[in-house]
Amino acid sequence: MAAPLDRSATWPYDAAGEPGPYSYARAEQPNAVSVEKVLGALEGGRSLLYPAGMGAVSGVVLTMLPPGGTIALAEDAYYGHKQLFDHIRPWGVNVVEYDQTGPPPADADLILIEAPSNPMLTMPDFEAAAAHPAPVVCDATLSSPLRLRPLELGCDVSLHSATKVLSGHDDLLAGVATVKDDDLFDRLHLTRRLTGLVASADTAWLLERGLKTVEVRLDRMEATARVLADRLAGHPAVTTSRYPSFGFLISFDVADAEAARRVEIATETIENATSLGGVRTKLESRHRWEGERCPEGLLRLSVGLEAAEALWADLEQALTQA
Ligand code: PLP
Repeated sequence: MAAPLDRSATWPYDAAGEPGPYSYARAEQPNAVSVEKVLGALEGGRSLLYPAGMGAVSGVVLTMLPPGGTIALAEDAYYGHKQLFDHIRPWGVNVVEYDQTGPPPADADLILIEAPSNPMLTMPDFEAAAAHPAPVVCDATLSSPLRLRPLELGCDVSLHSATKVLSGHDDLLAGVATVKDDDLFDRLHLTRRLTGLVASADTAWLLERGLKTVEVRLDRMEATARVLADRLAGHPAVTTSRYPSFGFLISFDVADAEAARRVEIATETIENATSLGGVRTKLESRHRWEGERCPEGLLRLSVGLEAAEALWADLEQALTQA
């Protein structure tokens, strides 16, 4: 019932001295192949597993961005994307941010959209992105393939931090990139093998276990998120609230940075911690990480599996501190 865990780094050649399907784990290993089949079926393409979501982005950019090329990045995408592209700027990587609800800039060589964006929760204009001649990469971490399949919307690569809802238990880091095109798959695979951007067998095994429950987890988290998003939108201490009508992530603003800090440290059932998509509900001020990129009073709420009324009671009592 559970895939056998094979931690081998190397496998013997066959009796004729030839490598079998597995010879060295940096190229291919059975637990990764097994979970990649599940991920590929969910996405409608061929998947590659990486040791983190950022590993997947790195592998994609190294493979798909021409030297000196320009990445058009959704301006409210996960802040780590911008940090990574700024960090590798000395290698000739240019980045321009743009409003993903409209068309990407004409001079882009690679487009990175996020559906929905973290934590501003905007949705990209898929048609406008797909109409651009440059390849389109969509980070769909907040949607999961159960709510959005970017490859069916004209994107070339669907990308996820599998650290989040796909695994769901805050006990691993992983990333996944899925493509339809066989040549692109081979190029991405070669980059992964040569750079060693390879997830461990344990990571692959745990992710495959997590995927068995992703549908029921997501359904329950989403049902609770809908209730909480409605109530937050009507709460007097909340100045703005954002919820894209599906998924487990909500963001809302209170008066200022101090109010956000008071609310986040006042929660009891809800963890004051970073990350999202796990079984435990988490709340945090994003300004501490993102600075000017996000409103000072913004709180990001990742809804988990606890009872909706228990979560609302906790939010209500914490919001008295706002
Ligand atoms: N994409 C999104 C939307 C994220 O929220 C994150 C992390 O929070 C990442 C990518 C990076 O993933 P990882 O932390 O697994 O490297």
